[in-house]
Amino acid sequence: MVFPESYTYHNNNCRRHGKISWFGVLAHGIGLRVTFMHHNAHHGIVRNGKTHLRDLSLDQLSEFVSGFGEPPYRYRQLVSWLYEKLAGDFQEMTDLPLRLREQLAHHARVTSLRATTVQVSQIDGTRKFLFDLGDGKSIESVLMRHGQRVTLCISSQVGCPMDCLFCQTSKGVFQRNLKCGEILDQICHLKRVCRDEDEAKKSHPVNIVFMGMGEPLLNYRSLVHAIRTLNAPEGFDMGSKRITVSTSGLPRRMCNLADAGLRCSLALSLNATTDSDRRRLMPAVSKYPIKETIDAARYFAETSGRRVTLEYVLLRGENTSDEDARRLGKISRQGPFKLNLIPYNPGPEGEYETLDEDELQRFIQLLLPYAPTLTVRRSKGPDIFAACGQLWNQSLGYKKGPAEGT
Ligand code: SAH
Repeated sequence: MVFPESYTYHNNNCRRHGKISWFGVLAHGIGLRVTFMHHNAHHGIVRNGKTHLRDLSLDQLSEFVSGFGEPPYRYRQLVSWLYEKLAGDFQEMTDLPLRLREQLAHHARVTSLRATTVQVSQIDGTRKFLFDLGDGKSIESVLMRHGQRVTLCISSQVGCPMDCLFCQTSKGVFQRNLKCGEILDQICHLKRVCRDEDEAKKSHPVNIVFMGMGEPLLNYRSLVHAIRTLNAPEGFDMGSKRITVSTSGLPRRMCNLADAGLRCSLALSLNATTDSDRRRLMPAVSKYPIKETIDAARYFAETSGRRVTLEYVLLRGENTSDEDARRLGKISRQGPFKLNLIPYNPGPEGEYETLDEDELQRFIQLLLPYAPTLTVRRSKGPDIFAACGQLWNQSLGYKKGPAEGT
């Protein structure tokens, strides 16, 4: 991914979307089936004989504490240590009796992540963390600052099965989904880094983007579970403006997410304006025509009341023709959408090129008559190849070999 220091272009001549409720066409009407998934399924909670506390929903955590014969206020103390004070182990929880801390440490764990590498950009201070998951696997997360604002780019899977041609993560082998606790641990770890650096401030406005390694909607249960804790007042108490799930576009799951009633925003990685180009660049989603994907994005916007971002990575000569610009502009009017153009981040061995400044301006000028609001993301951490997946690839040698027969 690249990181969102954005420049906004407004087309004042163009009618802005008013309230989005005028988009009457619901996914039901176009045959998208919606299946609600329960968030509190007990799955993967006990690992290596210990309960990982951030794998538990808050209801489960409350049950877990009362299982020790403790009064309800102990749950409130523990939850505050986990999500407000961002504890890394039980020893820090000094207002819990020593006996309880020892019991908890015997049966449970606070975190399962260990940062093994941190790369810091000399240009803008962006930091990329490689976390060891304790089972020989690892993931990356990125911390970016824009003045007082902090953005955390979080992974949802170890590797990614989507095989998008331009993405660094897809150069490695997909290994597994992350547990809910492993998702929340990334956030706690990075928030703690911010807090330790800036002790004067009690809390920072933090944005969370699921734009790290993996396809979040393929790890739907853990994702939903994690967002519930992010939303919960006793958890992180974060609203939809601050949480963005980015997807390569799985229409059914986009509708599921809309119906789950979470507070989060959605970004759709469109990246092509024709089905054949999308099939070439993003083969794993080729079975979903753009129309079906856009219908699902519109359904999300309609249901959540939030505009969906259409992300578009600019790959010179692949998806950047004048016709692409016009088609993209038209697609961006098919719902309450905002457009985000992303210059391609080449990484160490980029196979593609992005547009130079003149070409980018031309593309924008062609889009502006159609697109109500358009932002261009600027890469953060260019000197550390801050696109997710690169440090992971380099460190572990998980690169895919050449395809058989080639
Ligand atoms: N699988 C999810 C989330 C991870 S990718 C998704 O596809 O949305 C997050 C964003 O980074 C996506 O918009 C993706 O298109 C973009 N991206 C991936 N590789 C990139 C690269 N090399 N340069 C610029 N953007 C990239």
